[in-house]
Amino acid sequence: MIYFDKVTKKYPNESIALCDVTLSVHPKEFVSVVGHSGAGKTTLLKMILGEERPTKGAVFFESVKIHDLKKDDINNYRRRVGTIFQDFRLLPHLTVFENIAFAMQACGRSDEEIISDVPHVLELVDLSKKISSFPGELSGGEKQRVAIARAIVNQPDIIIADEPTGNLDPASTYDIVQILKKINDLGTTVILTTHNKGIIDSLQRRVITMENGKIVQDDKDGRFSMQD
Ligand code: ADP
Repeated sequence: MIYFDKVTKKYPNESIALCDVTLSVHPKEFVSVVGHSGAGKTTLLKMILGEERPTKGAVFFESVKIHDLKKDDINNYRRRVGTIFQDFRLLPHLTVFENIAFAMQACGRSDEEIISDVPHVLELVDLSKKISSFPGELSGGEKQRVAIARAIVNQPDIIIADEPTGNLDPASTYDIVQILKKINDLGTTVILTTHNKGIIDSLQRRVITMENGKIVQDDKDGRFSMQD
């Protein structure tokens, strides 16, 4: 479904963030990407989102070259990709309900759909009780569960999670990983970056290890091979 064909990314300051990367991610896979800071993980995710262009090579979604899409098409494509970040990125002046509704409105969903789907996704992340709370009234783990609900409410094909547990305690980290697994079991592709060895060990899914912009290991059984 996602295919990187010999992708190199050189930023204007001459940093080479990706170096001749070839990679396939199939529908319904759960892929973790690990590597030290600066290894190229975020750039890899930005390529999938069409936020950065390859200097050489191409990135495909199904048979479409992401970077050849016109503005309207790239916006439609991005709706098929849900995103989750370490810093949650919730709108602080909106309630949990409104944060999720906002993402639905941006996709042109009707008020009826919003009223029926928001409680449903909050149930999936076990946060129904907080529907009227503001982000400032939630713990880090709860904020991230809202961010996940927002990412899945428009039923994306792919979820991209960039260090989603980086700011969380171990108990919340465990909850977030369980939710991501559940979403994956329901049929959504998940691509996760993490530094957390415990997550990789508990997932037992595919792990891609990056170093200096290259994939140095691609392990189907979920081994964490990064050295400290
Ligand atoms: P990671 O997510 O693994 O920490 P990044 O993809 O953020 O890695 O960065 C890979 C390399 O590219 C690093 O050397 C980083 O300094 C460089 N880099 C990332 N983003 C930019 C940018 N916008 N401009 C210039 N260099 C960048």
